[in-house]
Amino acid sequence: MADTGVKGGSDGARGGTRVVMTLDGTVHDPAAPLLHADDLGVLRGDGVFETVLVRGGEPRLLDAHLERLARSARAMDLPAPDLAAWRATATAAAKKWGDGSEGAMRLACTRGRESGGGRTAFVMVSALPARITRVREDGIAVVTLDTGRSVDCAESSPWELAGVKSISYAANMAALRHAEHRGADDVVLVSSEGYVLEGPRSTVVIARDGGLVSPPVEHGILPGTTQHALFEAARKRRIDCRHAPLRPADLIAAEGVWLLSSTTLVATVHSINGTEIGHSDLDGPVKEMVDEALTAGGSSTAGDAGGARKR
Ligand code: PLP
Repeated sequence: MADTGVKGGSDGARGGTRVVMTLDGTVHDPAAPLLHADDLGVLRGDGVFETVLVRGGEPRLLDAHLERLARSARAMDLPAPDLAAWRATATAAAKKWGDGSEGAMRLACTRGRESGGGRTAFVMVSALPARITRVREDGIAVVTLDTGRSVDCAESSPWELAGVKSISYAANMAALRHAEHRGADDVVLVSSEGYVLEGPRSTVVIARDGGLVSPPVEHGILPGTTQHALFEAARKRRIDCRHAPLRPADLIAAEGVWLLSSTTLVATVHSINGTEIGHSDLDGPVKEMVDEALTAGGSSTAGDAGGARKR
């Protein structure tokens, strides 16, 4: 565990320490301020980020996250990140975090200060939010929420940054609060045409006809590193995996529904808009395959061969 630390904040993170490092290899006191008041990440949410699971003192699926960080930077006209520096810093920060408990690592890069100078870039590892243990064990109730966004948005309006991991996550967090007001744990976002998109911080995967299906990234959703790792592992077991347009009714009719993400990993959906979903025989194997992929797949890439779009 890190030796320069402060107690976890108000985000439900379990107590513990944080590790903060900049790309020059400096370890910062996590209790000390790091950003300037005119940082464009703070003023405009103008930057890109990744959240990576730290397990056993190592960042998991790091290459896939770095690849996506580079893709997001490209989409936002930010300079190409120095991936070797990010990799070295992420690896060092995870080592400093240690192998005692899992951690959530943020890689954050903003456009820098309004007054000029270089980009702002840092890596931070914190304890996993307490809700994650609960969600992994108990599963979740979700509500579907309309985004008013077309599935063509990424193609027709790239400035909307659909499918890009920009720091501007205020709308995603608002959707989660809305779900909470309605007594749900999480959200499935839906397009203006009524297609399932993704969760505000997760990828939707369903089981259908014994195979796994996830919405196409061409619909303006983030290519999920966890979903990709799952599909790779599932294909090794000869489970059919594909991307296809889904509607909320397909989720209700599915043999299983999951929300996948890097830190929660697999959240089993047990109800949608108050309708109970049956238990899937694939629930255990899906969790097992994600765990396997995390252990094996340090170098897994984020894009599905047939699914990832160029950003
Ligand atoms: N979609 C959105 C909008 C997300 O924020 C995330 C989480 O980062 C995901 C999907 C899942 O991606 P990953 O599995 O790489 O964490």
